[in-house]
Amino acid sequence: MKPIQMVDLKGQYLRAKTEIDAAIQHVLESAHFIQGESVALFENNLSQYTGSKHVISCGNGTDALIAALMAIEIGPGDEIITTPFTFIATVEAIVLVGAKPVLVDVDEETFNLNPALLEKALSPNTKAVIPVHLFGQCADMSPILEIAKEHRLKVIEDACQAIGTEYTFPDGTVKQAGTMGDIGCISFFPSKNLGGYGDGGALMTDNDFLANRLKSICRHGSSERYKHDLIGFNSRLDTIQAAILNVKLNYLNEYIKARQQAAKFYKSELCKLNWLKLPSSVPYSTHTCHQFTVRILNGNRDKLKSYLKEKGIPSAVYYPCPVHLQTAYKFLNHRAGDFPVCEQLSQEVLSLPMHTELSTEQLQYICQSIVNSPL
Ligand SMILES: *Cc1c(COP(=O)(O)O)cnc(C)c1O
Repeated sequence: MKPIQMVDLKGQYLRAKTEIDAAIQHVLESAHFIQGESVALFENNLSQYTGSKHVISCGNGTDALIAALMAIEIGPGDEIITTPFTFIATVEAIVLVGAKPVLVDVDEETFNLNPALLEKALSPNTKAVIPVHLFGQCADMSPILEIAKEHRLKVIEDACQAIGTEYTFPDGTVKQAGTMGDIGCISFFPSKNLGGYGDGGALMTDNDFLANRLKSICRHGSSERYKHDLIGFNSRLDTIQAAILNVKLNYLNEYIKARQQAAKFYKSELCKLNWLKLPSSVPYSTHTCHQFTVRILNGNRDKLKSYLKEKGIPSAVYYPCPVHLQTAYKFLNHRAGDFPVCEQLSQEVLSLPMHTELSTEQLQYICQSIVNSPL
């Protein structure tokens, strides 16, 4: 059996090596490293794939979040609602544009923003909500969008972990993660479901006005060379990354299927354990399994993690410390107990190896090791 990895980027590369190498070679020979033809091509392809009218590529997912907040003119005095159970970039972006993050606890089943707690967090200064589609499952967007509409809030989706995830509205309409709010943010960090071979990101919107602002903001506030109408910054997707992503986008549905198959295997083998809670399925969202995150209910999460490590099985804790308890965010004046669901999850969650190259033999070994764990 091959050694088990948390993610296997090399194995995935080798399967598309010929195409990817050719795509990179093509860019090298064109020497068009910034905004080469692959960039616009990728933006078009992603727009087709997601159904978003506009796709604006940028340097990474964090920049996408910052650009989105800049595009809707967020600044000092504004409050933006999001959750404390996310990758730090979501909250960091809010602080970096000078606004105040207002945190709302998550739903215990989905780890996503709990819409029932949203209204209590509103103030006259609230300008926007950033739901995070954590681990590849959509937050419950229908009630979030309703509340946002009622209170004239913008919705920026942090879809960095959820490209290709589908949300079904109560009327049956299906939309992809990142295409439901005003602006959606995507990351192409190598380990994401659609990963480049370096940093990369994208913004999605159906709004022509916002699309133009976003395009300009990511290019020094300029729509015409040396004419600057907005304060922007420099955030671009490298041509080489775009060329790689163009190849990999063709495989995205296959990648998602492979992840879902691994998840199915985990579920069928681990469902009998009463001390382990499997990730929940919800009727309104597909799960593209960016992470396969279980909860260890007997208090032995860290012991199980060490035991698995001894068996050659890597695992990870996303996220061990909620945002509101991080040193850098002390100024928000939160304390332990403020977001009890999120805090409990941070003690219980464990993400198992999840990628496109897991073999049945490896999955079997991981599951058997967990089932037979002496804990
Ligand atoms: C990865 C990620 C980001 C940031 O993306 P980068 O491309 O690494 O900057 C933001 N939010 C979430 C939820 C993420 O998982």
